[in-house]
Amino acid sequence: MKCAVGAGPRAPSTALAAPHPPPNTRVGTPGPSGRAPRLGRSRPNRSTENASSMLDLKLTNARIRTVDDERPLATALGIVAGRVLGLDEDVADLPARTTVDCGGAVIVPGFGDAHNHMAWFGQSLSELELETVSTLDGLHDAVARAASALPEGAWIVGSGYDDALLGAHPDRHGLDRAGGGRPVWLKHRSGHMCTVSSAVLRQVGADTASVADPDGGVIVRDGAGVPTGLLQERAQEMVTALVMPYPVAELADALARASRVYASEGLTHVVEAGIGRGLIGRTPVEAAAYQLARDRGALLTRVELMVAADNMHPLDGHADDGAGAGIDLGLRTGFGDDRLRLGPMKIWLDGSLIGHTAAVSEPLCGHGHGVYQNSPEEMRALVVAAHRAGWRVAAHAIGDDAVDVALEAFTEAQRAFPRPDVRHRVEHAGVVRPDQLPRIAEAGLVPVPQPRFLYALGDGMAAAVGPDRVPWLYRHRSFLDHGLRVPGSSDRPVAPGAPLLGMESMVERATSSGAVLAADERVSAQQALRAYTIDAAWASHDEHRRGSLTPGKLADLVVLDRDPVDTAGEGIGTIRVLATLVGGECVYGAENLDGLA
Ligand SMILES: [Zn+2]
Repeated sequence: MKCAVGAGPRAPSTALAAPHPPPNTRVGTPGPSGRAPRLGRSRPNRSTENASSMLDLKLTNARIRTVDDERPLATALGIVAGRVLGLDEDVADLPARTTVDCGGAVIVPGFGDAHNHMAWFGQSLSELELETVSTLDGLHDAVARAASALPEGAWIVGSGYDDALLGAHPDRHGLDRAGGGRPVWLKHRSGHMCTVSSAVLRQVGADTASVADPDGGVIVRDGAGVPTGLLQERAQEMVTALVMPYPVAELADALARASRVYASEGLTHVVEAGIGRGLIGRTPVEAAAYQLARDRGALLTRVELMVAADNMHPLDGHADDGAGAGIDLGLRTGFGDDRLRLGPMKIWLDGSLIGHTAAVSEPLCGHGHGVYQNSPEEMRALVVAAHRAGWRVAAHAIGDDAVDVALEAFTEAQRAFPRPDVRHRVEHAGVVRPDQLPRIAEAGLVPVPQPRFLYALGDGMAAAVGPDRVPWLYRHRSFLDHGLRVPGSSDRPVAPGAPLLGMESMVERATSSGAVLAADERVSAQQALRAYTIDAAWASHDEHRRGSLTPGKLADLVVLDRDPVDTAGEGIGTIRVLATLVGGECVYGAENLDGLA
């Protein structure tokens, strides 16, 4: 069923617009002086405008952390044609069309997020924001307020509720009362469940005890067997089938919203973790939404698109090319340019810790061994076929048993069809046994854990694995000690995506209750900065193009009010982003650059 605006689950965006705080309100504390540095810009000097070695932009009076070991610190940086021309004395005598006095602000390379869900996040920005709602009464009030602004019968769509924060999941009866009988669809922050009102249950034929659970999903029921409104895992597809696929133009708008938030947080490169068909895809033609957003000038950050495994099919071609799996035309990892490019094939091996569906070798506390999305044999065969066709592969593996499946698949692929320096990835790597560490290193894999999960979901994850396995959770230091490189990533909107919050969690490993998970896995602030800059670039085979402020590389950088490496005891997450430049162009904070000293 397709739904017209106002008659389907996509409520008019004006009714629910701007539920999120404006950029930086969460990180908006001023520097130690009580004020953020003011950045002064001087106008072009016309007498030198035609000089042959004119810089486009010169940034001076800054504390520049280049993340380049050969030259780690500088105070000035010059940009020409979107690239770093030089530092300090290289550019001291060169005229510039624009010179900005940074007033002592800190400059670091632009941040990369190696795993996020951009369209999903962008769409959630136009939905009722429930992340910060901490009581069921508050949630019902929010639904009632939204209902009062909508025509009768219009859907109310909310996202980000957290049953741990609320004390319980909402249920259909509460949503029926609050929503005045309207269809209400509230998505859990994990993406693994949602709660709907009776009107939605009726639309999908799941409002009575006689309905059966779908494959891979659970319709949660009360004592009499009647559905409560809570739908888990693939039972959610009963609802999403009403709205998918989304129109490309609507997704392009969502990407534009997400992109503005990303720019405000210093992100200059993100990897979208799975487009097209499959678990979290929005439409089979999802790449078109990214191209449209780019054509409109709305894609402010560089984007790499993982292609979900559900899009893969056996490839035809010359016999010499061999069989393999890919997408039409034989496009594969690397196709595109430095603004928009195809990345790895994304394959989901198992479920999640918070949903107790991660595949583990020993049962989760009070639960089983978790689930696989398909048979391990089938998934291994697809990894090998995609590898053969030239794809980098990103395998979602949260439980240690799923990590074993990933290791076996990648090892088999390399044995059968050797390719140098591929950098296949293990997404999340949530529970990793000590014996797996050297095997991951030997296989040349890239673990991609999400540090902010520790804060947002850590207490629940610790309860799921039990105390003996807490030291194995979302490791970082152990990976580094085994010679691995760990890119920074968020899995946004599953967890907050601001890179400075992620860096804070890498350093502190605190949960929201104040516990510290696996303190031995903490890393230094310098290592956290590397993760979100040069190591994120490296994971995309891009370290020669970006990730450090090295002459010749892309001029992607962030201006901060304080130093993330030398924090003087304050949390990295409270540092403020003053401006973000992508390819030398200011995509956020131009007003700060315009402010006169
Ligand atoms: Zn993800």
